[in-house]
Amino acid sequence: MSETEKKKILLIATGGTIASAQGGEGLSPAVKPEELLDAVPGIREICNPHAVQILNIDSTNLQPENWVQMVRVIRESYDGYDGFVITHGTDTMAYTASALSYLIQNADKPIVLTGSQKPIGYGITDAGKNLTDSFTLACEKDMAGVYLVFDGKAIFGTRARKVKSKSYDAFESVNHPPAALIYDGRVVRYFSEEVRPGGPVFCEEVRPSVFLLKLIPGMNPDVLEYVGARYDVIVIESYGVGGVPFVDRRNFLTEVERLADQGKIVVVATQALFEGSDMSVYEVGRRAMSFPTLLQSCDMTVESVVTKMMWLLGQTQDREEIRKRFYEPVNRDLYPMLRGSKG
Ligand code: ASP
Repeated sequence: MSETEKKKILLIATGGTIASAQGGEGLSPAVKPEELLDAVPGIREICNPHAVQILNIDSTNLQPENWVQMVRVIRESYDGYDGFVITHGTDTMAYTASALSYLIQNADKPIVLTGSQKPIGYGITDAGKNLTDSFTLACEKDMAGVYLVFDGKAIFGTRARKVKSKSYDAFESVNHPPAALIYDGRVVRYFSEEVRPGGPVFCEEVRPSVFLLKLIPGMNPDVLEYVGARYDVIVIESYGVGGVPFVDRRNFLTEVERLADQGKIVVVATQALFEGSDMSVYEVGRRAMSFPTLLQSCDMTVESVVTKMMWLLGQTQDREEIRKRFYEPVNRDLYPMLRGSKG
């Protein structure tokens, strides 16, 4: 391929294991983005990459303000590149993938997040493959939107979840098939993206006033009073298809009602990874859904629920509008028909 035919791809480095090296206190990001490119010479054969480092952190330390930084870099360089690859720690990469899917909508170019379980400098590592696959996807014709590429899979940004802490197949596509598989330098696509005219819509407002509460048997419902005083949205990660405990001793429904009166938004999600909520099935679900202000996650991932709410809170303070827009699908995060009869 001649130099002029090659696509221009911007590598946006943020740190993570892929860029880490052993220091006195354990692995921490150290490698520069140019070194990532130099370590995988095949990348320069398929495209014309440029690199910028906006962060060099373990993604455990990554904050919503950093998503905004990523959006800004992509917005400012959008016209100059054909695609974007963001290297990122794997631990919170699914949150970033979801967040960027809300903050950058109707993109007509690919924005690909990747990382690795082992540092690029290790003899045995998944870093080279994940980087090569990501650049391959970023160069793919008519590819558009936000993806997470890992272990040969391209997952829609709103559907990714880290499910393994050590193995190379660390990410799962939840409640949606992967967008594509990548092997031997080829992309096998299962979907084609429909991009509306008008170009990308960037948003740089995020309000992280969202609390995620994982329900366990025996939890005292007064925890809701505490978090309700500090957050606008409370996501209760409940069980199975979704329900809220109402036994006398520990009645969460009374607290949910109090939160609704205070104008707080409560979403019931599920600890089950696959298949989502349907609160119309059981009494524990139906009783909760009798509060018209209560929402359920349906088939959205918890990462999507949390970041969608942060994005919506950044757009409006109108609770009714937030509730309405929560159920509007964005970048394949939700299949409306899976909302259930009482959804
Ligand atoms: N702790 C690392 C991070 O998320 C893990 C990784 O990148 O795999 O930054």
